[in-house]
Amino acid sequence: EPLDELIAGLTVDIPDHPEPGVVFRDLTPVFADGRAFRRMIDGLAAPGASDPRAAALAGPAPHPPGDPGFDVVVGVEARGFLLAAAVALDAGVGVVLVRKAGKLPRERVSADYALEYGTATLELHTDAIRPGQRVLIVDDVLATGGTLGAAIALVEQLGGVVAAVSVVVELAALAGRQRLAPHTVHALWTT
Ligand code: 5GP
Repeated sequence: EPLDELIAGLTVDIPDHPEPGVVFRDLTPVFADGRAFRRMIDGLAAPGASDPRAAALAGPAPHPPGDPGFDVVVGVEARGFLLAAAVALDAGVGVVLVRKAGKLPRERVSADYALEYGTATLELHTDAIRPGQRVLIVDDVLATGGTLGAAIALVEQLGGVVAAVSVVVELAALAGRQRLAPHTVHALWTT
């Protein structure tokens, strides 16, 4: 079964949540299904592998055997933590947390981003990324791209190199992909 169909089949649409007119995609059943979770983690770790265009263009493997192509995985609070931890463990690399403002106890960098009403702030410990480290950033949903845009800004502020941005679901109508350009987003399901 194609991965996008598996994810789509398990995702539950919640109309008018959290406010009228918004259809919230509830991915928790995808996380709860062992087979889907396995495939989702594999897909996030292999940017482009689930994209037939990328696969067609792939050519020789870009990384030596045993090198996943990233040195650390960044997860965005909160569902991104679950994804990042599993991807990192599988790849044999560490996991780093991008958290909402006020949660990280030590020296940190901050990035503000726009919400529909007002702004929010994401933070990252200053010593969490070393200059030149290749970073895979993961989250569950790409909507407007504000959240991932802030995560990218934090990683780059510390000298990290964004190797890839992977999401489970891309809500194409909200044009997050365009907002994150020139970074490429690898989505397991685009809807
Ligand atoms: P953005 O900043 O791209 O507009 O929104 C993305 C963030 O909001 C992600 O961290 C994601 O968890 C959350 N989000 C936005 N829309 C949805 C949705 O429909 N379903 C889920 N599960 N999360 C969403």
